[in-house]
Formats: sequence, C-alpha cells, structure tokens
Amino acid sequence: MNFDYDLFVIGGGSGGVRAARVAAGENGAKVALAEEDRYGGTCVIRGCVPKKLMVFASEYAGMAGDAREYGWKFGDTSFDWGLFRGKLHAELDRLEAIYRNILKNAGVETFDQRARLVDAHTVELADGTQKSAKHILIATGGHPVKPGLPGDELGITSNEIFNFDTLPKSILIVGGGYIACEFAGILNGLGVKTTQYYRGAQILRGFDDEARGLICEEMCQNGIDVHLGTTIIEMKKGATGIEVKATNGTTKVFDEVLLATGRVPNTAGLGLENTGVEMGRKGQIIVDKYSQTAVPSIYAIGDVTDRVNLTPVAIREGMGFVETVFKGNPTPVDHDLIPTAIFTQPEYGTIGLSEEDAREQEPIEIYSTSFRPMQTSFAGRNDRVLMKLVVSQASRKILGCHIVAPGAGEMIQLVGIAVKMGATKEDFDRTVAVHPTMSEELVTMKTPVRTA
Ligand code: NDP
Repeated sequence: MNFDYDLFVIGGGSGGVRAARVAAGENGAKVALAEEDRYGGTCVIRGCVPKKLMVFASEYAGMAGDAREYGWKFGDTSFDWGLFRGKLHAELDRLEAIYRNILKNAGVETFDQRARLVDAHTVELADGTQKSAKHILIATGGHPVKPGLPGDELGITSNEIFNFDTLPKSILIVGGGYIACEFAGILNGLGVKTTQYYRGAQILRGFDDEARGLICEEMCQNGIDVHLGTTIIEMKKGATGIEVKATNGTTKVFDEVLLATGRVPNTAGLGLENTGVEMGRKGQIIVDKYSQTAVPSIYAIGDVTDRVNLTPVAIREGMGFVETVFKGNPTPVDHDLIPTAIFTQPEYGTIGLSEEDAREQEPIEIYSTSFRPMQTSFAGRNDRVLMKLVVSQASRKILGCHIVAPGAGEMIQLVGIAVKMGATKEDFDRTVAVHPTMSEELVTMKTPVRTA
C-alpha cells in the first residue's frame, strides 16, 4: 500500500521533534509533523526552559546581599519584571524558531494545526485534510489539571505563570510536587509573598524523606509560608483579591493562586477510539518497551504515555522509536536509574532509590552528612546542604544518591554516570576528594550513620 508519509508525528515537543528530525534527516524517511500550538512543547515554551530562566532571575536576589558580605558595595537593587519578561519571551521566540528550523532543515513537512487519528494509518488535520502514513507517532505531551473545587477558574496553572503583566504582591501555591515547590522558590525569590498549601505530611512525596525534610526547612527559612496537611476548600473573588477557604479553618486573601496539582496526558479528542489504541486510568497511552501501542503502526512517546515524565526521557524514547522502526534495531528505552533535578531553592539532585524504598528491598547502609557550606556560611546565612548515599550491604553498590545543595543538578549528572556503571561505595572511597567543594563529602564519608 502507498502512504503519503513513512511517518506522521502528532506533537512538536521535545520527543516528537527529535523523532521526526532523526527519522527524516538521518534515515531519509518521508516525515510530516502536526503541532497545534508552539513548537518546542511544554519544555521549551511553558516548562523547563522558562522555569530555569526564572530560577536564575530569582537567585540573584540573595546574591546581592551575599556579595555585600564579601565586601562588594552596591546601590539599591530591585527587580524589574517587565524587563525580564520581555527578554524571557524573546528567548522563547528564538528557541521556537530553532525548533521550526530543525524540522525544516531535516525535510520534515509541518502542519500548524491539530491532528486526530482516523484509523491505524490515517490522520485528519483540523482543516479536514486527511494524510496517510505507514507509521504514526503520538507525542502530544500533557497539560496541568486543576483540582475541580468551587472557584477553580480563579486560579492559574503553570501554563500562565510566565505571562503576568505585573508580578503579584502575594500568591498561594497549591500542591507539593515538582512544579509547586519550584515556583514557590522562584516567586519568593522575586519578592512575591509566597504561601504554599500541601495536603500531605511532607512536600515532594516519593522522594527521599531526609532530602524532603531539608528542602522544606530551607524553603521556610527562605521566607515561604509552607502549610502542610492543608489544602483549599473553595475560592471566591473578593474586593481585594482571591479569598481562599482552607482545610485549616482559615480564609485568606491572595492576589493570585497557582494550582500545581498535577498533569494529565493529552489524549482527549485524539480519535484513539477509532484505532484500538489502549489507554490507562489517567488517559495515558499504553505502550510496550519499544513505545509501540496495541495497534502495530501506532507508537507513542513522552508524557502522553505517563512513564517517566521528563524531557530527556521523551527524547530517548523518540530515539529508541526511530532506531526500532527505521533502523531495524529494536531498542527498548532503559527507564532504570535516571538522574534528575528539582530546581527548588536549594536544588535537589537525585538518582536511584530513596532510603525508604531501598530498605524495603534489601539491607542497606546510609552515609549522610548535612552542613553549612563555606560560601553562604561566610555570608552569614544558615543554609544547609545534604550529601547522602544509600548503599547495598550485600553488593556494596550505590543504590541511591541524594544531594540538596546549590548546583545539585549539575552534580547529580556526574554522579549518575558512576551509579549507572554500578559503582560501589568502595569505588567512591577510592576517588580523591576535590577540595574545597561541597560534593567532596560524597567520597569522604567513612562511617554509616545508620543501617537498616
Ligand atoms: P506532581 O504529580 O508531581 O504533583 C502534584 C501535587 O499536587 C502533589 O503534591 C499532589 O499531592 C497535589 N495534588 C494533586 N491533586 C490535588 C488536589 N485535588 N488537591 C490538592 N492537592 C493535589 O505534579 P506536578 O504538576 O508538580 O509535576 C508534573 C510532572 O512534571 C512531574 O511528575 C515531573 O515528571 C514533571 N516535572 C519535572 C520537573 C523537573 O524535572 N525539574 C519540573 C516540573 C515538572 P499528593 O502528593 O498528595 O498526591
């Protein structure tokens, strides 16, 4: 059978663009891609990239004060949101243009419209045109969801946070996950009076308890008003802002409310029911280890499959798909031991198991130290950092590494290589410390603080 394309990709985010580019550019496939919004997807347009630039912007707040402690003299410092926002959006426009060019240069035909599936080999664009393809790749990502409470519409999500005309004076952030905790640090740093409500006992559920505890403590010390075991009941528009009634019996007024209560896969209205592609309870597309759905010609990668929702993982899944389908080299994606960073302030870099998960699995030793690092301690701050290793008693392998410190994201990338190679505690011990650094503690901890 003759198809219009070898591959039709739905979604121009990190995963979809990579798969389309490599399939067309390196493998000579005839490829088309449809994107209804901006090219670059969540990561580039409304996620990792603008978020990280906002982290940088917010971190300068403390730097001016610290520099004074080191002898520098400045006049008054202040933050100009309008100036920053203009530059931020110009940067996003620049990056989007790069993504468009990547596709153009690789010979991928693009359609700036929504696409839906008609059958196992046919896609229909919003203008009604139908295109056939030997393979279809769904890379539509996900979107934030609001909790569904009275007055929900008054709250914003992470999609809108980059677009404030002026910075609010106060904000309530609801949720205790990555997005809630990262934006609590950012907005607090930018001078917004920041309150965070999280319904559970400690933020960042699922991560190492000791790390979560320290991050929360430091966030509070930085001025964020964190309320654990608390969430909203309803929101109303009041005379001076949004009135929020909470489970702790209070009603408080905030200029803005950020609902960071999770994300769901973008599968609604995709026409999956026409094809036999299976979905899970969250609406995620069910795929095998090669990212293939129940329909052999249809594959899915990235957040729409709700496996590990991180940009570099989506990119790998895209590369694995191309390798499998266009190079005849079946390549499953390895989802084990993925290093990752949460850009809270302080940052959290982590790989492998938390202490709590590891001790359920086998007998372990814990090496952990928490201290005031030289740079901020000299500036008179009380900030503490954490360096922690979870070690298997039997194999001596590092099962988990947890770093809470400025630059932890950079550190865990490198630790990740050693851990992925199967490094043991003794391999760490044989490595000479780089002095004076914070991370040297990772190779100098001699005695376990506990065993379990
Ligand atoms: P998460 O699922 O991580 O967090 C959602 C939070 O909202 C949880 O604390 C959850 O509580 C809470 N919540 C959920 N429903 C309700 C409700 N009805 N009422 C009150 N609270 C509620 O989602 P995020 O949106 O923060 O992040 C989504 C994903 O995006 C992450 O899992 C990650 O994969 C990715 N991401 C990665 C980043 C990075 O790598 N640095 C940065 C940002 C996002 P509970 O814990 O009790 O369920």
